[in-house]
Amino acid sequence: MKVSQVLQENWQNEVASFSFEYFVPKTQQNLYDRMDRMKEWQPLFVDVTWNAGGASRQMVTSTTDMITKASKGFGLETCMHLTCTGMSQEDVDAALSKAFNGGCRCILALRGDAPVENEKWEATSNGFMYARDLVKYIRQKYGDHFEIGVAGYPEGHPEQHDQDVLIEHLKEKLDAGASFVITQMFYDVDNFLQWVDKCREKGITQPIIPGIMPITNYASFIRRVKWCEINVPPEFMSALETIMEKGHIYHLHFYTMNVEKSTRVILDKLELVRK
Ligand SMILES: Cc1cc2nc3c(=O)[nH]c(=O)nc-3n(C[C@H](O)[C@H](O)[C@H](O)COP(=O)(O)OP(=O)(O)OC[C@H]3O[C@@H](n4cnc5c(N)ncnc54)[C@H](O)[C@@H]3O)c2cc1C
Repeated sequence: MKVSQVLQENWQNEVASFSFEYFVPKTQQNLYDRMDRMKEWQPLFVDVTWNAGGASRQMVTSTTDMITKASKGFGLETCMHLTCTGMSQEDVDAALSKAFNGGCRCILALRGDAPVENEKWEATSNGFMYARDLVKYIRQKYGDHFEIGVAGYPEGHPEQHDQDVLIEHLKEKLDAGASFVITQMFYDVDNFLQWVDKCREKGITQPIIPGIMPITNYASFIRRVKWCEINVPPEFMSALETIMEKGHIYHLHFYTMNVEKSTRVILDKLELVRK
């Protein structure tokens, strides 16, 4: 299955789907049990983030192990995040080769942030400068084996506040061979929908997936709306409904933060999981 193809078909047929993002935890067994339960909800794919600050060799092993477990162990369609930060071309080769052998067919190609907060990002020697360059490299090395996704920023990026320039950079990544976009999380739905329109005006035709962070993880929200640990505030639900009704968006990507409850509450309220 090509993720972008299913997304396009779902879009045309107005069928809703969703995906789950996980990160590599210190101990994996709890998460594996949770993934086993969450796979029953039938996500289109699951993805595993890349800890750009981590030691590259260790990251290659821990991330690809988790990808292999999700892919071969649970039979899930998987997408591995891969960053340029701290990665030489050899490290990237090792990660891609292990992902390939682990059954992975999709990479979210990212530049990553600087390992130390607020420091200027610098390319690794014999590494890659922009996500666009990583996309090109994966295409060159693996042809069409991997589908490639890239990151989009409806609310801007800390290093580039000019939205038009950012969209140009997004288009460069897609023109280099990526086939879908996952956005940074956001809560301003109108802004997101305007941004999607702008991307379309600039010739971006590929599926754009909104990244959803269930707000139970935000201390300020939790304080303000105590019940949200087991439920979702109405503003958030109506925001999601607006995205799906007016925005012609039919896929939601959940930043699960490795927990299941809040994601399940949202999916239940949107009636997206078969009981
Ligand atoms: C959905 C999603 C998932 C993510 N997952 C991870 C993860 O797993 N691990 C992690 O460490 N980080 C992750 N990130 C964060 C991401 O790595 C950072 O936001 C990073 O700062 C930018 O990555 P990028 O791939 O968008 O970079 P790029 O698209 O390469 O852009 C980086 C900066 O360079 C500029 N730029 C791009 N092309 C050019 C050009 N041709 N000329 C001049 N400037 C240019 C852009 O405007 C931007 O300011 C994720 C972000 C998103 C939205």
